[in-house]
Amino acid sequence: MIIVMKPEATEEDIRRVIQTVESFGFKAHSVPGVSRTGVVITGNQGAIDPSPYADLPGVADCVRITKPYKLVGVDLHREKTVIRIGEAEIGGAEMAMIAGVCAVETYEQTMLTAEVVAEAGCKWFRGGAFKPRTSPYAFQGLAEEGLKILADVRERFGLRIVTEATDEPALDLVEKYADVIQIGTRNMQNFSLLKRAGQARKPVLLKRGMSSTLEEFLLAAEYIMSEGNYQVILCERGVRTFSSHSRFTPDLTVIPEVHRLSHLPIIFDPSHSTGKRDMVIALARAAVAVGSDGLLVDVHPYPERALCDGPQALLFDQFRQLVSEVRAIAQIINH
Ligand code: PEP
Ligand code: MN
Repeated sequence: MIIVMKPEATEEDIRRVIQTVESFGFKAHSVPGVSRTGVVITGNQGAIDPSPYADLPGVADCVRITKPYKLVGVDLHREKTVIRIGEAEIGGAEMAMIAGVCAVETYEQTMLTAEVVAEAGCKWFRGGAFKPRTSPYAFQGLAEEGLKILADVRERFGLRIVTEATDEPALDLVEKYADVIQIGTRNMQNFSLLKRAGQARKPVLLKRGMSSTLEEFLLAAEYIMSEGNYQVILCERGVRTFSSHSRFTPDLTVIPEVHRLSHLPIIFDPSHSTGKRDMVIALARAAVAVGSDGLLVDVHPYPERALCDGPQALLFDQFRQLVSEVRAIAQIINH
């Protein structure tokens, strides 16, 4: 249920509503809007009785939420969520370009790539220090040493750092070094990790499970938000289908549908979804054309020697081409 406050409701009125919600053992999420605040109640098992709230001072209405997700949806929060770190934004007026290495392999490989990303005018850098690999024998990432290299990238180029946490101990470290905590496709329904990310005080980039429906994806975001972290970015990264000509099948239909159902920003990963360098630029263009709030792209100075996902990494010149083409498209559609 959402308790919709009157536009003239005071801080004191809102506090009283929150206290009343909490007195029943529920959780209250206060969501400020342009003209009025709403208080969303979670933690209830069955329907909530509106009578303890309806007559409290400052309360305009008590509205039932019929969707399975409460905080992710547009029932209350109609304005788009914008993630802001300094001048860098995701979900704002400018399309967000998050680019970098799949895995941080060496200082040199990371810095060479970061230089190109910064020179292209991008504000975000990606790079994995904890890699969830299909084979236990594949390169697993540099862990904290990799995070330190990423912190150096921020220091040197002013780029904001996005990096994956594969489990709770990794999340503790990622929260310390990075700007945005990435939860990967294989962990989209790792509910204890989602709850831990919800307790973090940094934005979370949540990738869609490779076999998950949109509703499951939104409920995974709800897990994070229900713990009090409302800074969530969704990322489409392709799903499993019978098609075998690309690594996964990019589901671009999810982008307009997320815009219809949710206030959260949604970005697209053309690298992991296609797995093929020659498809990345084309799918990036398509995603921006359908309204993606940003892109997450793998780049590598020498992909033939990459320790992870070399076949999908763009060469530097291809990356520059991608940036200029998607910017042109973003401008045409007035992103
Ligand atoms: C990644 O972005 O590095 C990654 C492993 O992606 P995904 O979780 O989508 O496979
Ligand atoms: Mn990868």
